Amino acid sequence: MHEIFFTALGGAKEVGKSSLLIDYGEKILFDRGVKLNARKTEYPLPVTTNLDATIISHAHLDHSGSLPHLFLKSNVMNFLTISTLDLAKLLWFDSLKIAGMESMTPEWTKEEIHKAEKFSFPTDYKKNIQITKEAHLEFFDAGHILGSAISVLSLKRQKIVYTGDFKLFETRLHHGADLGRIKNTDILITESTYGDREHPPRKEVEKLFVEKVRGTLDKGGWVLVPAFAVGRSQEIIDILHEYKIGVPVFFDGMGQKAAKIMLDYPNLLKDAHLLRKALSNAIWVSNPSFRKKALKDPSIIVTTAGMLSGGPVGYYLKELYKNEDNAVLLTGYQVENTPGRQLLETNKIEVDGKLLNVAANVEKFDFSAHADQAESLQAIKKLSPKKIVLVHGDASVMPIFKKKIEEETGIETVVPSIGERIKL
Ligand SMILES: [Zn+2]
Ligand SMILES: [Zn+2]
Repeated sequence: MHEIFFTALGGAKEVGKSSLLIDYGEKILFDRGVKLNARKTEYPLPVTTNLDATIISHAHLDHSGSLPHLFLKSNVMNFLTISTLDLAKLLWFDSLKIAGMESMTPEWTKEEIHKAEKFSFPTDYKKNIQITKEAHLEFFDAGHILGSAISVLSLKRQKIVYTGDFKLFETRLHHGADLGRIKNTDILITESTYGDREHPPRKEVEKLFVEKVRGTLDKGGWVLVPAFAVGRSQEIIDILHEYKIGVPVFFDGMGQKAAKIMLDYPNLLKDAHLLRKALSNAIWVSNPSFRKKALKDPSIIVTTAGMLSGGPVGYYLKELYKNEDNAVLLTGYQVENTPGRQLLETNKIEVDGKLLNVAANVEKFDFSAHADQAESLQAIKKLSPKKIVLVHGDASVMPIFKKKIEEETGIETVVPSIGERIKL
């Protein structure tokens, strides 16, 4: 039996730039992300060995954002679902565009995106395929966003399961993670984003959110909803549609393109028909004149970026921040050092080099697409591994989660540091 070594090149004791190297003679890389800070893009540690395969768990930039970078120097077979490839391509081209706009030199070009696509092997859920001489891979729906996958990597004698980002319970757009057929796990590598807490019930969060929206509109204020391009913006529009708010909902930013891709895969959505209806009811901001319209009379504006690190949200914020009757409603996890986290903690945010003291109401709603502590423990008990590796969580969360897992299950749990090579 081979020894297996694990090195987190990124995404250890942090949320962002996930990149996990498995070495058992062959070398396989799970994810190749970036971390978007207030001022710069962080990359994972470089890959200093020849890879036998890469696997991308889902399209979010913290998991896929620097895959093209790998293709500067060499080519490697990359495995992911077809919808992840569609979404990732959208995000890669957008990253290049943003780099160009901010006159940064991107680390890679269109050429590398085309290479990444060329060497990508779209893989369906629940299809066991051989990806190297010694390894088989099978994807299962992770319930996190469109195309998100839990990877089951079967070596000659050991089975490694990598959750990527996952959600066990169903959400508005997606069924929960599909763990049904995963058997005999030896090593479980799992995200820990919410390893220290529970989410309130989804319906309750929706009601509180809608109450806040209505309250703001009643005062004559605008509601600005920064939301992630993939999943969250469409979910928010779906909610606003169901609760019949009666005020125009403007839909701006990259969520539009992501929405079109989502509707290309109706079978992967819980209710594509409903989502299509909700989206067609929103006003799609297709040119700048719509932005002026959105700001003419009180309205709801759903736009990227979810952590306010770019996108049209800055434009709206500059117009809306001064008025305390307006509301800025955050709808997802705010990574440390992002503008969104800053805004939440200090009511201040820098937009186009100018520091704004935000008088508008800033509030965060816990619409998470990540498993919370209880869901994670349920998944762990179901998969019943011999050993657990915790990744993708704030440093402060890790020891709490590790203690909880070990107390409840007795399974040895390790918390690797970035760059540390550990024997599994
Ligand atoms: Zn994610
Ligand atoms: Zn993530």
